[in-house]
Amino acid sequence: MERVDTYRHKGLRKRLMDELRELGIRDERVLDACFNVPRHFFLSSAFLEFAYDNKAFQIGAGQTISQPFTVAKQTELLEIKKGDKILEIGTGSGYQTCVLCEMGAKVWSIERQKLLADNSKVLIRSLGYRPNLYYGDGYKGKPAFAPFDGIIVTCGAPSIPEALLSQLKIGGKLIIPVGEGKTQVMLEVTRNSATDFSKREHGNFAFVPMLNDRAR
Ligand code: SAH
Repeated sequence: MERVDTYRHKGLRKRLMDELRELGIRDERVLDACFNVPRHFFLSSAFLEFAYDNKAFQIGAGQTISQPFTVAKQTELLEIKKGDKILEIGTGSGYQTCVLCEMGAKVWSIERQKLLADNSKVLIRSLGYRPNLYYGDGYKGKPAFAPFDGIIVTCGAPSIPEALLSQLKIGGKLIIPVGEGKTQVMLEVTRNSATDFSKREHGNFAFVPMLNDRAR
């Protein structure tokens, strides 16, 4: 479907960035990156008018595009520098992936739902971004391309996957929502040395669950 980005959409985006600033997002580079990605391209046409509300929406296969505040918060916590290698688990609509690309990161992203992996690839490429996209199980990470400066998990994990910790650079950070119920705690896990990790909590969020293995 033909999608256009109009002045009206840009105006709505600017208003959403003001809202995210009021909600506590401080890093202007993150707000610029979110402003530069037309979120309405990532929602099915039935939800277009809600694209710039601070809400999550269905994207098919029982999954959701994360709330704009959540995307901005996780991106801010990663503290991305240009050229950083970032691994994302849960490509979903591809929106967060594009925000990471806008931050100047080199991105690897994994999605376990075939339909979403296929659809997001077409959309991301059409917008001119060049992340490395995979249909697979994010629990395993991407050992062939490790270590990463940052890893972001965009689905609710029952616990912290060991494989992801082992693929972090020393000084790198894993941003992951952890919890099995309706809400998860956003954890920032920093790798201080080969064996030492420290954790900080950043409030409660609601994510779709991180599930095992690929789905068709
Ligand atoms: N970042 C996405 C959020 C999508 S919701 C966006 O901006 O749209 C989380 C996604 O994680 C879903 O698409 C779900 O299918 C995916 N997911 C769940 N478990 C996974 C796993 N083990 N590996 C890879 N992706 C997974």
